Amino acid sequence: MNRINVRALAPAGILLAMLLPAGSGSAQTAEDEFAIALPSARIELREAPSASELLAPTQVVVLGTGTPIPDAFRAGSSIAVIHKGESYLFDAGAGAVRNAVIARYKYDIPSLYPSLICCVFFTHLHSDHTMDFAELAHTLWWRRNAALQAWGPRGIEEIASGLLAMNSVDIELRSSGVQPVQNPEGFRVAARTIAPGVLLEKDDLVIEAFAVDHGDVSPAYGFKITTDDLSIVISGDTTFSEAVAEKARGVDLLFHEVISQQGLARNSPGFQRYHDSAHTTSAELARLANIARPGLLVLYHGLFYGTEEELVLDEIADGYDGEVILADDLDVFPQHRRR
Ligand SMILES: [Zn+2]
Ligand SMILES: [Zn+2]
Repeated sequence: MNRINVRALAPAGILLAMLLPAGSGSAQTAEDEFAIALPSARIELREAPSASELLAPTQVVVLGTGTPIPDAFRAGSSIAVIHKGESYLFDAGAGAVRNAVIARYKYDIPSLYPSLICCVFFTHLHSDHTMDFAELAHTLWWRRNAALQAWGPRGIEEIASGLLAMNSVDIELRSSGVQPVQNPEGFRVAARTIAPGVLLEKDDLVIEAFAVDHGDVSPAYGFKITTDDLSIVISGDTTFSEAVAEKARGVDLLFHEVISQQGLARNSPGFQRYHDSAHTTSAELARLANIARPGLLVLYHGLFYGTEEELVLDEIADGYDGEVILADDLDVFPQHRRR
């Protein structure tokens, strides 16, 4: 086992906390606290989920909280819901698969090992939500039990065909040489174009898509995920949407994108117009949260434009008195289940 310090991978908030005076603890203690043991290059195979995976409560791991803007601390948009030994990803922005590997070991969730991830659902096909689709589909494809299943708006099947073309040389090389290939069909993504409604029902898990308003990007979807112990809504990219407010009424967790008011003001008039039509300002999100009253509002996909990130929480607190947090990559929910 290698001991890898996640400080290099830690979100800005954690980095900041580590730079502050440690109080009763020493610098060494703080370092140890954020060090996790990660095995090096371990192949993981699994016929079926273990008994303990089947009994585990539903968990959500935020794999990426970023946007199209490159960010050293935030991978592209991606949220994983883990239920009864399977991981369901919602979007797969750049870096999401790398974070899935870290989360697999940090939280001991076998189904987050990339070639064991069964399913991905795309809110829309902007590249900050899809750049790791290839990574997810074809990492260790020859050892996949089953090919990746993908659901997304119109265009998803073209992207899946494009991935196949992009990796056709790799597929040919591995399939025609001396390399053992456990699953010769493991690279074939099963892609489905979605419409609003229930997409997947498995035991007590229900995954439903609903239309949101992402400006001229249409269709764009949000998702509602319900299990026997947790209800979750993921907004995807959207401006203020009555549909999100309705679907999120009383849910345990609402993951919502946001653009900071102060950040928006730093944009050119052209980009202000674009963002107004495509994203939700902090004031609009406060209004939405007052309708939905989720157990916890979790901000992700935040557009800050150089303003201090935490200021967005103050902007929301001006109009909403419920519990709100600004997610970092690798946050896990419900928080009391943090291991
Ligand atoms: Zn986006
Ligand atoms: Zn978008």
